[in-house]
Amino acid sequence: MIDVKRRVAAPAGLAQRALRARDVLEALHVDFLGKCYLCESHVSPGGFEVDHRVQRSHDASREYDWTNLFPICEGCNKRRRKKPPVGGLLDPASGEELIAHKLEQRIVDRHPHPPRPYFRSLDPANVAARNTADELDHIHNDPNDPGAMKAKDLRDAVVYHQHRVFKICLQYLRSTGDEQARRELGEHLRELLSRRAPYTALTRAELAAMGPEIVALFD
Ligand SMILES: [Zn+2]
Repeated sequence: MIDVKRRVAAPAGLAQRALRARDVLEALHVDFLGKCYLCESHVSPGGFEVDHRVQRSHDASREYDWTNLFPICEGCNKRRRKKPPVGGLLDPASGEELIAHKLEQRIVDRHPHPPRPYFRSLDPANVAARNTADELDHIHNDPNDPGAMKAKDLRDAVVYHQHRVFKICLQYLRSTGDEQARRELGEHLRELLSRRAPYTALTRAELAAMGPEIVALFD
């Protein structure tokens, strides 16, 4: 999960109580960088579901509240728990303190277990951050997922992506004698590590440890 900037004015479609009005879907797609807000998988402009961060069953008055609507992929929407936890959840579009300051998000690789995403609240007293870490863990690591869009598929996609970017980072760091190759690899990495790329939070967490030359490529 990464921070995004939500436009202030609600799309006009919401006044008509149309959650899937064209302007609502466009605004969600643009403001959330073309990604599912929970798992950061790419979604196409009309190819996502509209999630209520605070569920309608819990607070019907927020059904058409712009600040309560989030673009979500089918798999996350199936796995997301339907009852809001006591203490609430973090909002990546709140404009408040950065998610990165509240949540540790990384991939752990503890042999003999396969690599997997890991989430933890950086402040044990922050209940919303703890709940969100638990939510993200459930979405990525649910062992009993019965859906067609399985948590394991997401996990594999995240780990594969990170491994691929890691290898290109190594090439980049070793390309000191070849200016043109270095420039091209740097351009490619800027895209792969950008906020618009899939799985930014998890990918950056690991690759930042490769040093300041890599961190300098982050937007
Ligand atoms: Zn998702």
